[in-house]
This record gives sequence, C-alpha cells and structure tokens, in this order.
Amino acid sequence: MDGALPRSALAALIERACALDRRIVFLTGAGISADSGVPTFRGPEGYWTVGSKNYHPEELATFAAFRRMPETVWDWYLHRLRTCRAAEPNAAHKSLADFERSTPRRFLLITQNVDGLHLRAGNTPEHTFQIHGNLEYARCSAECNKDLVRIPEDIESATPTLPTALHCSRCKAPLRPNVLWFDECYDEERYRFDSSLSAAQHAALLIVIGTTGATRLPQMVVTQAVYSGLSIIAIDPYANPVTELVAEHAHGVHVAARAAQAVPHLVTEIRRALA
Ligand SMILES: [Zn+2]
Repeated sequence: MDGALPRSALAALIERACALDRRIVFLTGAGISADSGVPTFRGPEGYWTVGSKNYHPEELATFAAFRRMPETVWDWYLHRLRTCRAAEPNAAHKSLADFERSTPRRFLLITQNVDGLHLRAGNTPEHTFQIHGNLEYARCSAECNKDLVRIPEDIESATPTLPTALHCSRCKAPLRPNVLWFDECYDEERYRFDSSLSAAQHAALLIVIGTTGATRLPQMVVTQAVYSGLSIIAIDPYANPVTELVAEHAHGVHVAARAAQAVPHLVTEIRRALA
C-alpha cells in the first residue's frame, strides 16, 4: 500500500499480536541506517579503489581476501568504520531504544547492520542480535581467544604495514574485523543464528524494517515467521522480495514509507496497545 499508513489493517494486526504474551521482534537492515546517511553496502559507490583496481564488497568482505591482503581489507573497513562513527542514530533507532527501555521483556532486535547505531541509540547487547557482527570491534584472526577489541579511533591507515594495534596482543596474529564474511557461515556463538530463528518462531509480531532479504538469515527469519502464522509488518519505501512475501501473507502488512518516518509512529501505537 503506497503513501499513507494502511490504518485499519495495521490496527487489527497490532491488536492481534499484542493479545499474545510474547515478544515483539524487530528485524532491521540497511534501510533504517540510510536515514542516518550510512551508505548502502551494495550501492553504486560501494567499491574500493586500490591503485588502478576497483574491488567490490563481495570480493573484499571475505576471509580469502583478508588472508591474501589484510592491509587492503583493513583500509576498506577503517574507511567504513569512520563513516559509521560520523553518523548519528535517527528517530527510528531512538524509538527502538525507547521501546526496549520501557518494555524490555517484550522487546527483541535482530539487526543485519554492522554500523553499531542501534547500540549507540541505547539498545543493549542482551536484546540486540547483531547477526552480521559490528564494525566497531576486531578479534584474533587465528582464533586464539574470543575477546572483542574495540578498534582505536586514531588508526588512520593499515597500509603499507598493519599497525601494532591491529595485531592480537596474545599471539600477534593480525586482528580481523568482527563481521561475518561472504565465505563464512552463520553460527550461534557469534552471530546468534539459532536464537534468531527461534525468536522469529515464537514472537507475537515481527516488524521488518529496511531489508530486502538479500542475505540468508534475514530471509529465513521472515520465512519462518510466515510459516509460523505470525503477524508481520514490513516497512520499506520500495517493494522488494521481503515486502512482497509479507503483503501476500494472511497476517501481513507492507507500509511503504521511510523508516525514520514510520517506525516512531508504529512503536508508539504498539506501546499504547501493550500498556
Ligand atoms: Zn591471537
């Protein structure tokens, strides 16, 4: 449905969901951070130039590329990290943080964003599954320990030599960004794979914000929710495979709007229904 919020369908869905004593699960993607100016990972300016060669994210965001040229991969991540650190959480992020503060028992957030904006807005790691990791942190690439190291603000560049701060303090192997790469698998320990699917199965309501379902776990979360008969609301200005799946679902509504506009209103209505 284009333009205005489809009022009656939304109200009925919220009423149906809030009658259940279960969690409201939010699944967020790049669309929620676009309103904070974080560029889309796969956008037209998404490539990274080294010398005369343009690398695309699918080439650089791999363990294979990191093994071959850790300095170049780190330079790209440091660039992305600076962009994310310069961005501020928007009204949509803030409304989700308010929701968690007021009703933690009913709140869960699954995010595919690595920009850390949800945590900076005030959501807690306990209620936020970062299923693709977080750019703010690094970890030992040799897996000698599981510690996360916050990347210092003052690292300008990783070329030509990887700085000492980007080496493991114990085994001296290079640190790697704490993100899931294209040639790696989801797991529970780092990326909350099983917990995310379980949450989608047992929620009262799934709210999908700004994701096209191009990656596997977000797609599985939505499909799981459809098969479980959950109420689902998708917020995205444009139609995509996820919004189409939700719109065809018996208990689904697609709200065609930007996240920063629609999410605060929706959260207010849900909190009112829960009160
Ligand atoms: Zn190590």
